[in-house]
Amino acid sequence: MLTWLVTGGAGFIGGNFVLEAVRRNIRVINLDALTYAGNLQTLASIESDPNHVFVHGDIGDRALVAGLLAEHAPDAVLNFAAESHVDRSIDGPAAFIETNVVGTLGLLESVRDYWKALPDGRREAFRFLHVSTDEVYGTLGETGKFSETTPYAPNSPYSASKAASDHLVRAFHHTYGLPVLTTNCSNNYGPYHFPEKLIPLVIAKALAGEPLPVYGDGKQVRDWLFVTDHCAAIRTVLEKGRVGETYNVGGDSERQNIEVVEAICRLLDARRPREDGQPRSSQITYVKDRPGHDRRYAIDASKLQGELGWKPEHTFESGIEFTVDWYLENQEWVQRILDGSYRLERMGAEA
Ligand code: NAD
Repeated sequence: MLTWLVTGGAGFIGGNFVLEAVRRNIRVINLDALTYAGNLQTLASIESDPNHVFVHGDIGDRALVAGLLAEHAPDAVLNFAAESHVDRSIDGPAAFIETNVVGTLGLLESVRDYWKALPDGRREAFRFLHVSTDEVYGTLGETGKFSETTPYAPNSPYSASKAASDHLVRAFHHTYGLPVLTTNCSNNYGPYHFPEKLIPLVIAKALAGEPLPVYGDGKQVRDWLFVTDHCAAIRTVLEKGRVGETYNVGGDSERQNIEVVEAICRLLDARRPREDGQPRSSQITYVKDRPGHDRRYAIDASKLQGELGWKPEHTFESGIEFTVDWYLENQEWVQRILDGSYRLERMGAEA
């Protein structure tokens, strides 16, 4: 049986990844600091599964990580842990440097020392996979796509901190030989997404009858990928990726932010019409644009598709429909975040 150490597995993408890995009978050691974005509710269905070991702690805690590596002897380490919200990075960049840069460095050092001491055979098979973002490439004009050779040009403190972590991962391969893989993915959406990000935020506010805030003119373009397609891409890269390589992951689903908001409004109107019969698009409110807001992201995922045979299952249309239905059926999960009671779970983890 394979054992993976997954960091940030109580967050949005890490949580989806861990649920799927445990279902596939992989033993997961899940290390998460349970910041505001960590939510043990996401993992409720595997709470008592013997293949899931949750550990409350920081990726930068070298003693803790070294102890976990020695105790559980994982076949791979997958690093999802990060501060991940661009707006928060504008208000307070320091936490992003602490976790995404300093924390990743600590993790890399612990993993390098563990990997070096592995017996032959296990050492060759070991992988460190770093989960990153397309935001490291900066912004695009009307045309073109980010490829793996696009120069890094991060524009927000978040993307700058992720770019720094990507460089450290690369350097640990070139300097120490650590067998690393890096994935740079476009915007994810789907179940268990913290309702501060565009799609879950709009669903929650639309249902509550509140204004739906759209930055600037709403014409910023993002490529959207359903979260389980991203998780499948990560598994594919882990299993088949060439050591030291980076792989771009995208859904070929470019949409303007305003188009995303309007699609959600239409789906909600069809499933749960407002009592006054008004369309939810009437709740859209344009607000002052985010400083340094990148205009357009688009991903060329042909390396991952051509070399490793991955392709997404969901189109944007099927994925957003699934997502809206999931939020309608899992209002309790959202409500526990909105009223803050999900934090009580964290106190349980402390005990
Ligand atoms: P998230 O904010 O939902 O989850 C991050 C998780 O990391 C949380 O559970 C949090 O508690 C944990 N964490 C934070 N600091 C930690 C630390 N010091 N030690 C241990 N755990 C810590 O983020 P997400 O959206 O799931 O993103 C996961 C990864 O994927 C991130 O590295 C992010 O940069 C990357 N990514 C995200 C997207 C996206 O659209 N959400 C797209 C591409 C790449």
